[in-house]
Amino acid sequence: MTCLHGRHIKPLLLAGLNGDNWRLADYVSRGGYEVFHRVLKEGISPDTIIAEITASSLRGRGGAAFPTGVKWGFMPKGAVGRKYLICNADESEPGTFKDKDILRYNPHSIIEGMLIAAYAMGIDAGYCYVHGEIWAEYERFEEAIREAREAGLIGKNLMGSEFSFELHAFHGFGAYVCGEETALLESMEGKRGYPRYRPPFPAEKGLYGQPTTINNVETLASVPFILRMGGKAYAALGKGMSGGTKIFSVSGDVEQPGNYEVPMGTSFADLLALAGGVRGGELKAVIPGGASSPVVPGHIMMQTAMDYEAVAQAGSMLGSGGVIVLNETRCMVAALLKLAAFFHAESCGQCTPCREGTGWMYRIIQGIRAGKGRPEDMALLDTVAGNIQGRTICALGDAAAMPVRSFLKHFREEFERHIQSGPCPACG
Ligand code: SF4
Repeated sequence: MTCLHGRHIKPLLLAGLNGDNWRLADYVSRGGYEVFHRVLKEGISPDTIIAEITASSLRGRGGAAFPTGVKWGFMPKGAVGRKYLICNADESEPGTFKDKDILRYNPHSIIEGMLIAAYAMGIDAGYCYVHGEIWAEYERFEEAIREAREAGLIGKNLMGSEFSFELHAFHGFGAYVCGEETALLESMEGKRGYPRYRPPFPAEKGLYGQPTTINNVETLASVPFILRMGGKAYAALGKGMSGGTKIFSVSGDVEQPGNYEVPMGTSFADLLALAGGVRGGELKAVIPGGASSPVVPGHIMMQTAMDYEAVAQAGSMLGSGGVIVLNETRCMVAALLKLAAFFHAESCGQCTPCREGTGWMYRIIQGIRAGKGRPEDMALLDTVAGNIQGRTICALGDAAAMPVRSFLKHFREEFERHIQSGPCPACG
């Protein structure tokens, strides 16, 4: 336990992990699968479990932050044919690398979370969709499934109950857009990873047209801990509607980049201190929730707490918790160009504003960065971003537009300087 400014930090998901103790026996020695056993032995009702998850204020940790208990409640009850549970492990947003560590170091917490979630929603089939560019984590998760199956934790009539659950790892194809849940479903069905129009939502028509719930790795891995301590106690670890703890992937200009699990509502200043502080100069800016979240000037972040509401008030999003720190030497035009290049490359091309707009934005910023920008490019960039935002099939369009508008809002003079005087020494 770490104590920062009188606030106790109690990691749950990453507690006691050293890289070698990921196996079933290690997880059981830490109290793993106790909750699942209790659920089956005592016949705890699905409604009671969903009520606990709702009371915990757990919100989707993949970035959307939708209340998990509410999402589970959307699944139809009764005879609707097969229902699916999918763990979304397609983590690939620049700056976010927490799910990989859970897959690597605590895979059984995901499996136990899936077992409990499946029981609560009356589901008997599950998949874990692992990002296509990570092999070691995929193989680690497969091995954990094998251990769980051999121990009688996966299969038919578990512990003599009526509950059966089959679970498989699914290796994705490496596209960022497949982290969008309906593109993920298309990909699993063997089709091109195009996001679907909604409605219908996956709870009504998901994988192979059947009701499906898709939850992020960190969300599912939190479930056993919530039931172990009780929903209200978990919520009390955090702040307001941001319950529990959250893993933040801290990267960029910090002394000790890495994953840090802290209670929701921890100040950004404390999180930064955990990561060893800023490296190479004073703090200039922070991208607080992964590459798709709007950038925030450093002095504002130093007054901000790391919870959904406070980061929104600071003009950004907590998103996936990928915290990218930029020091005073960074060129903001060059930083935005990297983000624009990513979203341009990852647009699936299905809808015109995103397909064309991400290319336009990339080329305009590239021109400014190269000293070929025109004064009217500033307004053009803002117009293109505005014509993408809110006009696309999936959230990737917004994810591409929001950083652009926030960089222009907070660091406009740097863009204007590049247009007037050409590349700066920090352009790289
Ligand atoms: Fe594809 Fe972009 Fe449209 Fe999403 S917003 S469907 S990524 S083109």
